[in-house]
Amino acid sequence: MKSIYGMTLKNLEDYFVSCNDKKYRATQVYEWLYRKRVTSFDEMTNLKKEVIENLKENFSLSTLQLVQKEEGKDVSKFLFELYDKEHIEAVLMQHDYGNSLCISTQVGCNMGCTFCESGRRKKVRNLQAGEMVEEILKVSETVGKRISHVVLMGIGEPFDNYDEVITFIEIINHDKGLALGSRHITISTCGIIPKIIDFSHLPYQVNLAISLHAPNDTLRSYLMPINKVYPLKELMPVLKDYVNKTHRRLTFEYILLKGVNDTEDCAHELAHLLRGINGYVNLIPYNETHYLKWKRSTPSQISKFYDILKKEKISVTIRREFGSTISAACGQLRSSKEEDEV
Ligand code: SAH
Repeated sequence: MKSIYGMTLKNLEDYFVSCNDKKYRATQVYEWLYRKRVTSFDEMTNLKKEVIENLKENFSLSTLQLVQKEEGKDVSKFLFELYDKEHIEAVLMQHDYGNSLCISTQVGCNMGCTFCESGRRKKVRNLQAGEMVEEILKVSETVGKRISHVVLMGIGEPFDNYDEVITFIEIINHDKGLALGSRHITISTCGIIPKIIDFSHLPYQVNLAISLHAPNDTLRSYLMPINKVYPLKELMPVLKDYVNKTHRRLTFEYILLKGVNDTEDCAHELAHLLRGINGYVNLIPYNETHYLKWKRSTPSQISKFYDILKKEKISVTIRREFGSTISAACGQLRSSKEEDEV
């Protein structure tokens, strides 16, 4: 059954009109869902009994179950079970500017990035918009705090689930929905060109992060199979157009893998690749996992890489680390649960 949280306000208005009811019912329901945060349809006391019965017949109000929670300093990780017994995870990070939730967008992932734990399991299915909304609501309810920022950097490739992701953004961005400002939402993609173009036509000021991880096509294709389909030589011009069209600043994510993409030559090549694009590089110390061979760069190599980019006048930050003590790298909690079950 469809989660009611996957309905945009417009979808819900159409639903009520199709039931010969009033359009404004949709706003009433949205108030119960997103302001009063009820957990059953029966609590929607300003609706008539038959309206409530109709909603119960057509929609479910809870499709996600929290099955595990791990806590570290300023970070908590949540494992959810879906209606079909699949598992996904979300990670909450407490920053001084607010509470940022990293959510999953698919069960498994088909992108096959060699360093990423999530991709060890192929995509089973896309998450529905309502399941993604519920990730936010369930975490917020569990910790008793408002989620102020959302990043689509958990399990899955958001642009391989484009339609549901855009519906999700419409719902959480809507001022009658979760009212999350679009500048507080970040989509991260491995670089699916046609969807980046589609996304540039939308009115949202949502941030876009590109998982770059290599400064040239040879190395990037070795690390990320998607680069064979959408190579840098095609991706970079599309990103330039994206920035020109939207006037939004891009983020480039760059994981530092010891001896692979963290050399001084790579840093210079990266500076050259990004010259003139309105964006900044986020250097990510790699979270090592049991199952994959890659190692994290040494702190001194990370500093060297950072210094070269700075000297080359590229904006750069080093990502603050949250997760390494609690297996919070993408897909690690789910994958350790599934190994336990085998
Ligand atoms: N598929 C999307 C979003 C999910 S991955 C994308 O590719 O952007 C989110 C980010 O985490 C990506 O930049 C990804 O490359 C990075 N990542 C994956 N495994 C990691 C690990 N073990 N340590 C640090 N970052 C990792």
